[in-house]
Amino acid sequence: MKVMSQHVVVVGSGIVGTVVSIALARKGHRVSVIGADQPDSCEMASYGNAGWLNPGSVVPLSMPGLWRKVPEYLLNANGPLTLRLSAVPQLASWLVRFMAAGCTPRRARAIAAALRPFLHDALERHEALAREAGVPEMIKGGGLLIVYPDRAAYGADALGWSMRRDNGVAWRELEGEELRTLCPGLSERYQFGALITDGGYCTSPGGYTSALATYAAGLGVTQVSGRVSGFRKSGGQVLAVEHAGGEIACDRVVIAGGIGTTELARMLSDTVPLVSERGYHVQVSAQDVALPVPTMMSDLKFGITPMGNEIRGAGQVEFARRGRAPDWRRARIILECIRASFPSARIESFEKVARWMGNRPSTPDCLPVIGVSPHASNVVYASGHGHLGLVSSPYTADIVADLIDGVSRTDIKPYDPARFCRFRL
Ligand SMILES: Cc1cc2nc3c(=O)[nH]c(=O)nc-3n(C[C@H](O)[C@H](O)[C@H](O)COP(=O)(O)OP(=O)(O)OC[C@H]3O[C@@H](n4cnc5c(N)ncnc54)[C@H](O)[C@@H]3O)c2cc1C
Repeated sequence: MKVMSQHVVVVGSGIVGTVVSIALARKGHRVSVIGADQPDSCEMASYGNAGWLNPGSVVPLSMPGLWRKVPEYLLNANGPLTLRLSAVPQLASWLVRFMAAGCTPRRARAIAAALRPFLHDALERHEALAREAGVPEMIKGGGLLIVYPDRAAYGADALGWSMRRDNGVAWRELEGEELRTLCPGLSERYQFGALITDGGYCTSPGGYTSALATYAAGLGVTQVSGRVSGFRKSGGQVLAVEHAGGEIACDRVVIAGGIGTTELARMLSDTVPLVSERGYHVQVSAQDVALPVPTMMSDLKFGITPMGNEIRGAGQVEFARRGRAPDWRRARIILECIRASFPSARIESFEKVARWMGNRPSTPDCLPVIGVSPHASNVVYASGHGHLGLVSSPYTADIVADLIDGVSRTDIKPYDPARFCRFRL
């Protein structure tokens, strides 16, 4: 189908906005990206994530029985979840809806099925994109490993693994010598592993976003640095995107503002109730940890990813009021988890390691927000990817490009921004 070229303004220069801009430029649109942060800025979630491209991430965080585990997590000061009490009034409705989202096997399975298209071939999509952008070395295959203390602990996750099987995820069980050969130096506390064979990872999420932005510029995408402060509207459409330096006239707008999307949506009278699940990373040199594939410690709920000569440990979910300073004790916990998982590794002291905190832009139903704005018919949302924004970006970009070109898809109903119309955050 021949489509008319339009001027599309993409708000957000993280991984989602950047990959969307490439998809639109490929289709012949004139594209401007405006972001409050530069594509290599550590302020964005896209900079410091764990880099996992995991088809097995169909299993949502909201699962049956989560409500039973939450008190145990919260009471453990060194656990994977923390909720600052001052944040409770602000987050209560979101948390209730989140807990309910996957509270029965039927609901959790529906979320998994809706996440599948973003994940099942994400490694191939990123490999193709990285090749196209001239940085093929930034995407690696080889699988992803999830380790358990023993087979019984793996068995306790049976519902999650059956959801993975139902969604076409392949894995291999590893025990004893086979596990130790794949993951030398791994603590004896882990005796069982599941290697998800179709997965991979990004060796530098911030570097990748930046390289893709450079590639986008080569395709003619204009990059503007600035914070969007409003939208000039008429007749239910946005005519221009306003920022401190002036305004950018447009035919269409894509909102890919990460955690900033809630505020941008408010400017359009829409409701997109994103809450930040704050996460942390520490990056250590640990040259004596030979980690061939990213590895998740199921009991400690954190993952380690090889990043060049270093390894990045990432995890933690912290709910706090917007704008509160990072609590670096959360990063210290991750460092201690690395030490516990690789006891013989020589690892720098906490004071010497690089540390980072970022905002996962999370919806209460564990699904992204992709679709046309209920209050501005030429605006499309591409946000709310929570824990899965890197891996999901190419499929998201395809949906957005179709929506901009007026190609209808029947399968995007679960991501419709209008589902939150009545939600109050
Ligand atoms: C610890 C941690 C580990 C993670 N691990 C993984 C993983 O392994 N795999 C995975 O797929 N995902 C992972 N994620 C999630 C992933 O990082 C995010 O889902 C993803 O980066 C979101 O990308 P984004 O482009 O939507 O948002 P961001 O990267 O945050 O970018 C948002 C952009 O919007 C701009 N913006 C916002 N408001 C405005 C405004 N008013 N005006 C102008 N610009 C604005 C910002 O400046 C920025 O450019 C992890 C996240 C964390 C925190």
